[in-house]
This record gives sequence, C-alpha cells and structure tokens, in this order.
Amino acid sequence: MLDLNTLQVASISSRLAFVLVFFVTLLRHPREIYFGVWAGALCCSLIGSLLMLGDPPSVPLNAVKGSIVYILYGASLAVSWAGLRLFHERAPLIPQTLGLALLSGLSYGILPQIGASVTWSLSVVFVCIALSTALCMWEILRTPASMRLWTQYIVLLGFGGYFIAFLLTIGVIHFANERLASPESGIYSLLFDLWCGVFIQVGYLAMVSERAHLKLSRLADTDPLTGLANRRGLFAALSQRAGLSPSPPRCAILLADIDHFKAINDTYGHDGGDAALVGFAERLRGVMRKDDLVARWGGEEFLVVLDQADATAAATVAERLRKSAAGQPFTVNGAAVTVTASIGVAVVAAGEERIDAALSRADAALYAAKRAGRNRVCLAPSPPPPDIRAVRAEPSSGLREAMEAIQVVGQPRSEPA
Ligand code: GH3
Ligand code: MG
Ligand code: MG
Repeated sequence: MLDLNTLQVASISSRLAFVLVFFVTLLRHPREIYFGVWAGALCCSLIGSLLMLGDPPSVPLNAVKGSIVYILYGASLAVSWAGLRLFHERAPLIPQTLGLALLSGLSYGILPQIGASVTWSLSVVFVCIALSTALCMWEILRTPASMRLWTQYIVLLGFGGYFIAFLLTIGVIHFANERLASPESGIYSLLFDLWCGVFIQVGYLAMVSERAHLKLSRLADTDPLTGLANRRGLFAALSQRAGLSPSPPRCAILLADIDHFKAINDTYGHDGGDAALVGFAERLRGVMRKDDLVARWGGEEFLVVLDQADATAAATVAERLRKSAAGQPFTVNGAAVTVTASIGVAVVAAGEERIDAALSRADAALYAAKRAGRNRVCLAPSPPPPDIRAVRAEPSSGLREAMEAIQVVGQPRSEPA
C-alpha cells in the first residue's frame, strides 16, 4: 500500500527537479522568461507541499496555515497561467494573476470570520483554483491552428486532470461520506496530483522543444529577405502535397525573372535592389491564390507552382503577374522605378511524376521571353503523351526546335507579337 509521507516526498522531489531544470534553462536562454515564471509557479507549490509535509490532506487546516498554503497553491496555478500566456507571446495579466492567487487563500482565512462555514470557504478556494486551471486550458486551446503543437495536449491533459479533481473536491466537501473523506482518498488525491504535475512539467519542456524545432525548420525553408519559401521550402511543400494526394501533380509552373535587375542594383545600390525584390514578392503574393506555392528560386528569379491549372489558366495568371509588376512603379530608395519581369510558363504533363521536366521547359520559355525582348510571358509546349513519345523514336529535336515551339502569350501592348 502507498503511504502518504512517501508520496509527499516524491511530489516534492519531482517539483524540485523541474524547478532546477527550468532555472538552468532560463540561465542559458534569458529571453525565454516563461521558464522563470513556470519555475516561480513550481516554487509556490513546492513551498506549499513542504508546509503540508506530514499533514493528511483530508483534515482541514487552521485559518492561518490554510490561508498560506492555499495562497501558495492558488499562486502556483495563476502564475502557470501567466507563464503560458508568455509562452504564447501574450502579455500576462498581472492584476488578474495576483487577484486569483490571493483570492484562493484569503477566502479560507477571511470567510469563516464573517460567518461562512469551513465547507463554503473551502469551496470558494477550490472554485478560484479551478478558475486558474481553466484559464491555463483556455490559453492552450485558443492557440491558432498554424501554431498548434502536438505536445500542448500533454499539458492540457495535466490541467484537465487538475480541473476535474478540483470540481470533484468541491462535491466531496459538500456531500462527503466517510469513505470519500478517508485518509485513503487523501493518498489517491496526492497520487493524482503527482501525475498531473508531471504531465504539465514534462509537457512544458516538450512544448518548448517542439516549437523550437518548428521555428528552425521554418527558418530553413524561408527566404529571409522576401519571406517567401526558398528552394528547400518549395520542395518540402511539394513533397508534403504529394504525400497527401496519391495521384501525380496536376499543376503548372511559372518561372519569373526580373528584367535588367543588375541595372537596378547599379543605380540604387544593393539596398535598392533588395527593396525591389521585396516589392516584387508582394505583387507576386497579391496575384496568387492560397493554394499556389510561391518561392524565391534564387537571386531575382521566382517560381510559382499553380495548383490544378492548365496552360490557358497558367498563362492568364502569368500575364496578370507581368502586368501587376510593370503596371505600377516600385518605390526604391524613395524613387519610383518601373520593374518588369519575363515569365516562362510550363504545364506538368500527364504521366510526369515530378516537376523537374516542366521546370526545364519553363526555364526554356523564360529564356525565349528574354530573347524576344523581355517583359513578356512565354508558354512552353507540352510534351506529347507517353505512348506517342514511345512511337517517335527519333533523335531529340534540339533546343532550336524547342525554342521555336515556345509561344509568346503575353507582352506589352505597344510591341508586335
Ligand atoms: P536579365 O534581364 O537578363 O535577367 O538581366 P539581369 O540584370 O536581371 O540578370 P543578371 O543575372 O545579369 O543579374 C542579376 C543580378 O541580381 C546579379 C546579382 O548581383 C543580383 N542579385 C542576386 N541576388 C540579389 C539579392 O539578394 N539582392 C540584390 N540586391 N541583388 C541580388
Ligand atoms: Mg534578371
Ligand atoms: Mg536571373
């Protein structure tokens, strides 16, 4: 049979270990203040547990000791709530946190003085503590889907356990029969407290590690200047999409290259060139749909993968992008600068498992657009279907023929086709 003192010592030891882990982590990462706040919350419950050492939890405490212990337990949960807000980059609500912490304990000392029974005083204590627990759960649940972590549900489980235990305690206080108020029930409640506490503290550490991992992989997939995906990010998104759908990709590719970009750099400096790149990326975002993948392919080249688009639709979007860039000057170092782009378009043909071949065709179309005078859209012809390709076993038609097949589909009005 489990004995009370062993459980109390185990609970104190586990809290002490987590306090140490949080403090040491805070020393290594002083900007992650929530570690300090969670350590503070644990210190409160640790001192509360030390004061309770040897006291069976089913026997009511005297007014002074009860007030102190319940303030400490209340503070532990209210401060955990503040730590969770900090972790989720929300400012902690200090007056509410202090209010919840104090209200939990003071009601135990004050309410009996004004005629309330111990039962009702204890109920108020547990309502306050349950409220702090509910706020902790709310902070986790309201996280937007894009920032949701799997490990947050471990913490939620811990707080959920506490919440149910506090509500049950209120019921037990009011309708306790002897069995429920027995020393045995005190042992089980302490064991439950130990479990919930470990779930929460281990969950905190797992949450921090999962978020750091996500941030790192997002950084590695993103171009820092424009905020668009980089090559790695684009391929990661493509393979994720391929994993979700068993059929080969049905998409089109736009490869856009800013015209005479070197001249922008030479005239307005590297910063000016950067501003033009950021501006072009914004126009690109403005033209594309939510499901299209947009990436900075390198230097002043951008790649778009249009989901479920045929040649006509892709050429229309490319022309919209060309017009969006050329139609209105960009602000570069305070000057209005017209930036144009040449765009190569290719469609991923039926039977193509990967986008590589379409990428090469888009590149050839882009080259054709540059040769044709820039600021225009060129559409690469689709390759013949696989069965026809097998019949035509002639040698490759060569670059010249391929270039001739490329069609100019968008250009400034003033120039002939
Ligand atoms: P074209 O019309 O044929 O595409 O000519 P272009 O001048 O745009 O192309 P070119 O390849 O000659 O020059 C591209 C320039 O882009 C050269 C490189 O220094 C510059 N560049 C590449 N990455 C960046 C960047 O991140 N910031 C800035 N400011 N410039 C960059
Ligand atoms: Mg260029
Ligand atoms: Mg280029």
